Amino acid sequence: MQSPRTNWAGNYAYGARTIVRPASLEEAQEAIAAAERIGFLGSRHSFNAIADSDVLMLFDGLPEVVEVDRRARTVTVSGGMTYGALATALAREQVALANLASLPHISVAGAIATGTHGSGVANGSLATGVAGIQLIRGDGELVWLSRGDPGFDGCVVGLGALGAVVRVSLDIEPAYEVRQRVWEHVPLADVLAGFDEVMSLGYSVSLFTRWAGDIGQVWVKSRVSAGQPEAPVDLPGGTPATGNVHPLPGLDPVHCTPQMGVPGPWFDRLPHFRLGFTPSNGDELQSEFMVDRRHAPAAIEALARVGEVIHPVLHISEIRAVARDALWLSPAYERDTVAFHFTWQRDQRRVEAALASVHDALAPFESRPHWGKVFLADRVAVGSLYPRLGDFVALTERYDPRHAFRNEWLDRIVFGTDS
Ligand SMILES: Cc1cc2nc3c(=O)[nH]c(=O)nc-3n(C[C@H](O)[C@H](O)[C@H](O)COP(=O)(O)OP(=O)(O)OC[C@H]3O[C@@H](n4cnc5c(N)ncnc54)[C@H](O)[C@@H]3O)c2cc1C
Repeated sequence: MQSPRTNWAGNYAYGARTIVRPASLEEAQEAIAAAERIGFLGSRHSFNAIADSDVLMLFDGLPEVVEVDRRARTVTVSGGMTYGALATALAREQVALANLASLPHISVAGAIATGTHGSGVANGSLATGVAGIQLIRGDGELVWLSRGDPGFDGCVVGLGALGAVVRVSLDIEPAYEVRQRVWEHVPLADVLAGFDEVMSLGYSVSLFTRWAGDIGQVWVKSRVSAGQPEAPVDLPGGTPATGNVHPLPGLDPVHCTPQMGVPGPWFDRLPHFRLGFTPSNGDELQSEFMVDRRHAPAAIEALARVGEVIHPVLHISEIRAVARDALWLSPAYERDTVAFHFTWQRDQRRVEAALASVHDALAPFESRPHWGKVFLADRVAVGSLYPRLGDFVALTERYDPRHAFRNEWLDRIVFGTDS
């Protein structure tokens, strides 16, 4: 079997000596029980060593599962399935998920394991849509946990440390339509004066900036109410875009989802990029930091003050909202959250230099880094950021007493021990 050598962005080369691709759940269970150290790989979209191990398991050989249960309002899917493939299957069934991340190419298990999110003041991360999860533990046994079960809140954002996620049940709702409109050149002062109001202009709102002046674009995605005319949205100070735009100024919007208020299916409006479009193989790095939304204006001002350091190595920043949740290692744990995302040029050394300033700027706000992106580990005291970390560690001891799922990254950053 051809083995994946690097992550999607190419900034991390996996050190794993062996790749296993089980063709059945039984094979996966046997391989896990037999492995001394084993990790789990989704679509390789993380930007750090979180997924690495001596042996890496891939899930693309397992039979694909998509089971819609209309009474329970859930769909049960194989963990390795991508959101893009799932959306296509759900469209046929006329049902939908509540939200999506910015791209559909990521796997369900990989996305929920890291707390991946879209935007919306009332929308939790994708992990909050998980109603049930099936894992293979360190002893090879299968366990199913449903929302409300003891330990469930600890194992959804599980960082791959609790076992192989082979099935996931996700909440569904009737299919809906969304329209999006974009405003350009919104003065920073206006956003600072009414941050919550701006983020509440639609179902999902994203702000794009290069930290060198105004907020370049505000994308407002609103759900369409059947038979109702579009609710007027006013963004004083901003200029409504006169055609489709790309978040990066000047780039052709051909791969962007349609804007200008044209209604379309949820999966073709909630991500910024179209389903069928395959993004280039990662000429970028990404970082993201999550802060309590009450601190959003102060945090924006702090980042703007170091804009000169950020700007030269940045493609674009996106500011999003994530609703609070109760998942122990979720970056939105018990905090209505503002997420500051950075798409960097692919220059690890210069990015890390800029990141030192970002960490310092956000330090007063106890920012939580995105688990799957680039951050400076020595600036992150995970124990103080996650009140339930001790319970998470205890849960991993139950699911993985031989520490087969641990790796150097988890030991250093999460468990606070060295391999
Ligand atoms: C272009 C791009 C756009 C992105 N957009 C967003 C965004 O909009 N919002 C956001 O929050 N993040 C975003 N991300 C980050 C991305 O969502 C996360 O890195 C996510 O974890 C990627 O999922 P994956 O399937 O590639 O996981 P991987 O990178 O393969 O793995 C990530 C983690 O999941 C675990 N894992 C994977 N599969 C399993 C399994 N079956 N069982 C147990 N554990 C498993 C791994 O062990 C590892 O700990 C983006 C990344 C890229 C490259």
